[in-house]
Amino acid sequence: LLSLLNDPSLLATQAFVAGAWIDADDGRTFEVSNPSRGDVICTVPDLGRAETARAIAAAADAQKGWQQKTAKDRANILRKWFNLMMENQDDLGTILSAEMGKALTEAKGEIAYGASFVEWFAEEGKRVYGETIPGHQPDKRLMVIRQPVGVVGSITPWNFPNAMIARKAGPALAAGCGFVAKPAGETPLSALAMAVLAERAGLPKGLFSVVTSSSSSEIGKEFCENPTVRKLTFTGSTEVGRILLRQAADQVMKCSMELGGNAPFIVFDDADIDAAVQGAIACKFRNNGQTCVCANRIYVQDGIYDAFAEAFAKAVSALKVGDGLDPDTDLGPLVSQGAIEKVREHQKDATDKGGEVILGGAPLDLGPLFYQPTIVKNATQDMACATEETFGPFAPLFRFTDEDDVIAKANDTIFGLASYFYARDLSRVYKVAEALEYGIVGVNTGIISTEVAPFGGVKQSGLGREGSRHGIDDFLEMKYICLSV
Ligand code: ADP
Repeated sequence: LLSLLNDPSLLATQAFVAGAWIDADDGRTFEVSNPSRGDVICTVPDLGRAETARAIAAAADAQKGWQQKTAKDRANILRKWFNLMMENQDDLGTILSAEMGKALTEAKGEIAYGASFVEWFAEEGKRVYGETIPGHQPDKRLMVIRQPVGVVGSITPWNFPNAMIARKAGPALAAGCGFVAKPAGETPLSALAMAVLAERAGLPKGLFSVVTSSSSSEIGKEFCENPTVRKLTFTGSTEVGRILLRQAADQVMKCSMELGGNAPFIVFDDADIDAAVQGAIACKFRNNGQTCVCANRIYVQDGIYDAFAEAFAKAVSALKVGDGLDPDTDLGPLVSQGAIEKVREHQKDATDKGGEVILGGAPLDLGPLFYQPTIVKNATQDMACATEETFGPFAPLFRFTDEDDVIAKANDTIFGLASYFYARDLSRVYKVAEALEYGIVGVNTGIISTEVAPFGGVKQSGLGREGSRHGIDDFLEMKYICLSV
């Protein structure tokens, strides 16, 4: 990997705690490997609660001066961080692809996406407006100011090793908070590379730490039990989100939760089929199906079901699966053996219940973590793929006739993150967009993520929003000041 980098110093293999590059107190490490090739890239320190507590204390200390700076001064440093990420986009993308497996073009795209949150929130920090309220008595003057919530603990998954951290650290730091990141054990290198650049950008010592660890539950406990931490921000499964919410309850800690999804993708009779096929590919196969906003259930109306299935299969068959670092690759490997098993399980369950595989359906001999992009026709609501997120390159096609019925089916889930539909009738577009119980609705598009819009779920998909002018609210507290004159 080192030989592929223009700047080898971006491949940091120590943890970044309290402004210093450190090993674990007990010297323990864990391995980071490349899912495309199966080889070990390097080891990183396996930190525990003691090192995490030091990171938290340092963040609190550094926050004191940081929050006193003007938003413009904070923005200037964050802007440098953004610029450094963009200047090093190729290297950061290479590191990301190596540890996570996603195709290099997507990995570089993720760096730009992640960096855009730092840029956006650096500016939004300047617009943390308060308000004045007409007094309730003649001698009263009422004001509301907004202040940083305090030290933030962050836990993020492997599927977006850069962007999931940037989406949190950008607004937190812009708001004036200290920040301790616990990246996924599978993908600590992208987080450490961000720390190298944070240091170069001039973020105050200790304000931003990266705690690498193979025991995330220990770090999660430290975040929830350490009274200095005032905010927990998490992206991951609903299952782990629930655990963290319970743990956070003891300190009544503020929580932002970006949890699982089960996105419906509905294609109505009046849709532009070619556009719907392109949208479905972008949405289903982004990151090889491993995003929480990937289409999980594709509902296609009767009249165009067969035509859509045929066009979709033809287009998907053109996708090239391969080593993430190969520039020609469209789809890389899956992240782990467990991810492969989940795809196999959903496929077997579907075919046992009458589903028909019309494309793919088998592993590829490129390595143990490669699976063919797979499409199954005749999917039904009793299949596991109707209720569980597959998180892989598996696209079940459900047939429907009635609009109200498909809306009911789309909403029949505990999740409510992203949803998509294709239609051209204007009243249908309005009606369906309003009826879908989701935090995000893509209409005639399969790509919805941007730093300028609020990303987040309803129901058991989460709490809070990332991105947009609203995203900084999650890192601010309101203070009401009542002044008697
Ligand atoms: P994924 O399947 O995307 O890994 P998880 O919810 O299992 O989703 O994990 C998301 C992140 O949460 C990972 O960084 C993981 O290490 C961490 N994690 C898992 N279990 C816990 C826990 N009990 N406490 C804190 N963090 C956890």
